[in-house]
Amino acid sequence: MRAPPYRWPDGKRSAVCFTADVDAEAPYLWTSRAGLPQHLGLLEQRRFGPREGLWRILDMLDRLSIKGTFFTPSVVAELHPEILPALVERGHEVGLHGHLHEIVSETTRAEFEDALDRSLAIVEAQTKARPAGFRSPAWEMTPGMIGALKDRGIAYDSSLSGYDHPYEIDGLVEIPVQWQIDDAIFFRFFGGGVDKWPPARAADVGDAWIDEFEAGRAYGQLLMITIHPWISGRAQRVAMLERVLGRVAAQDDVWIATAGEIARWHETSDNAGVYAVESGLEPLAEAIARSPITTSSASGRTAR
Ligand SMILES: [Zn+2]
Repeated sequence: MRAPPYRWPDGKRSAVCFTADVDAEAPYLWTSRAGLPQHLGLLEQRRFGPREGLWRILDMLDRLSIKGTFFTPSVVAELHPEILPALVERGHEVGLHGHLHEIVSETTRAEFEDALDRSLAIVEAQTKARPAGFRSPAWEMTPGMIGALKDRGIAYDSSLSGYDHPYEIDGLVEIPVQWQIDDAIFFRFFGGGVDKWPPARAADVGDAWIDEFEAGRAYGQLLMITIHPWISGRAQRVAMLERVLGRVAAQDDVWIATAGEIARWHETSDNAGVYAVESGLEPLAEAIARSPITTSSASGRTAR
């Protein structure tokens, strides 16, 4: 059954949240964890984030008086101890994003929990506050991860896309993401022949994001923008973000808030419980088991 339209505070039509995943070197360290190569190319691309990109983004947000949420792997906080205090000082929210940017499919439940506890301790020590939210590297989650977040009193996750406004999954508040409003799919470019396409022109991506914002207002959508400072701290992308956010901020019927503020609104408003879903993997496994197609006959086929 379809749920009723989402309700935003003060009669606002829709909401916008600006988030950054402050990955910097962390994903490179994860993929190099068996042995760090002597190569500097990709590492220096990523180091542009903490050196310059992040600060350009923060200055841009200050010009618009917009506060965002910065999901930061705790190894980045360790390597660059100036970042989290600066985010707090400038009024932004700091969220969890693993320790070494652990990729879910390559991590056991126990390893995930160890990394989560380590990241909680580091972020809490550097910000003098317990973080309220978590975003999974590469936006993958499992029911076990949701349980581990709830066990530690984490108020919300921001990794899934089952609605385009807040909801609950297995009892945890979800502040949903959307791949088409993520900078990485348009701009990330590693070089060395591994990329499938060149980086998009930032102004074209900005036009598409404004289209999504305008179209989503009819549905009461949360426009969840996700950027990475090492990618979007480059000149034309900062200019694009300032244009998109300036356009949003000029509307008086849009709520611009951090992910934590949106999670608190969800929990304390009459939206709470209205969009509650379960991860629901067991009925799906049973449906597969009832299917006449067996695993042996399914293997080797590529049709989807
Ligand atoms: Zn990330």
